[in-house]
Amino acid sequence: MQSYRVLAIGGPIANAVRKTLRAPGYGHPAHTELATGYGPCRLCLKAFNVGTDRRILFTYDPFYEKENLPLPGPVFIHERNCEQYPEDGGFPADMVSRHLTLNAYAPGRRLVAQSYVSNGDIEAELQRLLEGRDVAYIHVRDTKAGCYDFSIERTRQETVDEGNTSNGGESHE
Ligand SMILES: [Zn+2]
Repeated sequence: MQSYRVLAIGGPIANAVRKTLRAPGYGHPAHTELATGYGPCRLCLKAFNVGTDRRILFTYDPFYEKENLPLPGPVFIHERNCEQYPEDGGFPADMVSRHLTLNAYAPGRRLVAQSYVSNGDIEAELQRLLEGRDVAYIHVRDTKAGCYDFSIERTRQETVDEGNTSNGGESHE
């Protein structure tokens, strides 16, 4: 059983967008509107109340500071007054029953597995992916909209058995 961390967009990024109404790293104007879809908010990972919540749409690269190759796309956050989902909060309740795509990546943004879940049975699939030795992190996306929702990583860095790494990248001093 792998324990995992749920990584929402960070509070500093969200607050910068709220303050500047610009996409971080891109500078594109952010767009504020009344929610027309459930989202979720990428900061608190709660579903929007359609027609009542106000949200900000902006361009975001979920690989920022992790990989060299970016993959920017649209995301939403509440316009104000919400906080980052706790890393140890388990899978967000508002997201469990959604049609989700789980993209499991090895370092270097190499996609090693991809699963579609829609029946709420997310934990078993997450565990299966996290058991994969070459899986470093998982991106959760909305299957219908395609947008990035949040990331998942193992709580503890698993130790890689010596002699089983064959990427040729070892350094010798
Ligand atoms: Zn929120």
